Amino acid sequence: MAPVRLELTARLCEQLGLFDRPGVSVVGAEPADDELLTTVHDRAYVEAVKAASADPRQAQEVFGLGTEDDPAFPGMHEAAARIVGGSVDLGRALVAGRVRHGVNFTGGMHHAKPGCASGFCVYNDAAAAIVAMLREGAERIVYVDLDCHHGDGTEAAFWDDPRVLTVSVHESGTTLFPGTGFADELGGPGALGSAVNLALPARTGDAGWLRAVHAVVPPLVRSFAPDVLVTQHGCDTHGLDPLGHLQVSVDAQRVAAASMHALAHEASGGRWLALGGGGYEVVDVVPRTWAHLVAEASGQPLAPGTPVPVAWRDHVREAFGREAPATMSDGAPATFTGWESGYDPDDAVDRAVLATRRAAFPLHGLDPDFD
Ligand SMILES: [Zn+2]
Ligand SMILES: [Zn+2]
Repeated sequence: MAPVRLELTARLCEQLGLFDRPGVSVVGAEPADDELLTTVHDRAYVEAVKAASADPRQAQEVFGLGTEDDPAFPGMHEAAARIVGGSVDLGRALVAGRVRHGVNFTGGMHHAKPGCASGFCVYNDAAAAIVAMLREGAERIVYVDLDCHHGDGTEAAFWDDPRVLTVSVHESGTTLFPGTGFADELGGPGALGSAVNLALPARTGDAGWLRAVHAVVPPLVRSFAPDVLVTQHGCDTHGLDPLGHLQVSVDAQRVAAASMHALAHEASGGRWLALGGGGYEVVDVVPRTWAHLVAEASGQPLAPGTPVPVAWRDHVREAFGREAPATMSDGAPATFTGWESGYDPDDAVDRAVLATRRAAFPLHGLDPDFD
């Protein structure tokens, strides 16, 4: 989770010219204030983060701080609050119609809970942006989480809220943190069906992952007809990621980003807030995946074979003493067969997809076998 992954991503976007494209603005963000943070977090927790931020020795484990996953560091409150500020600003600009799409690849901190830090996440910017958009007039929002890990914190924030549908596609909790996110986790009694979970087997590759994402996400988003589509693009699904056990390529992530973009135009009036998330292979995976995301949101996706700028590769060599990838592709075809081709009971991915469709689709008036 070292900030270098963000620095490398921004530098790659810059050197690919993505920030200079017509219609693209790069905007700064101020740290969210307490009023904003307490829309999704307990005041006592925010105070605990501030205390740990001022003096890391004050970190309290009861709030998940000072732990192996969420070590305390000076300035952690401001850093985490600034991520929230960025996502909230973009959400408000989307609802007000000032921008069509927003990308905050520093965001997507989906494990943070109301009262504690979790899984490298301190403040949940995705939840705060969704709350802010609801307050500013959005009536229905879909949050799609493509991170390797279950988007448990964001899901919990809206567990009983029928206005927000959260859909998380991730490696099964039987093999990965946080151990939740199964097909039968569907939301609270006031909002049954407002949480949807697809738990994929470890080692799922491009074809299975893309088939699964497309078998579940588009039908639900179309049927829910949100005012805004929020997507989390954690790229710890990659085969090189040191934490997750999926085998998704940069190319497949690129295809998924394009699908989310198209879906926003089709189902949410084009209002699309795209966030980063996990991703711990900081040279080969994170920068290229999120540069593709930025390019996609700018309206002009980068061809997979686009060369990685020499200046960026030189920087990587100097800073890390290793070679950077030569192109924006892993060379993977990133093709898949759609669900309409039929269900294969011998395929573990298909069984996972069908479990989710059977559990969730009827709650949305959809047919698990045919929609
Ligand atoms: Zn993750
Ligand atoms: Zn667009």
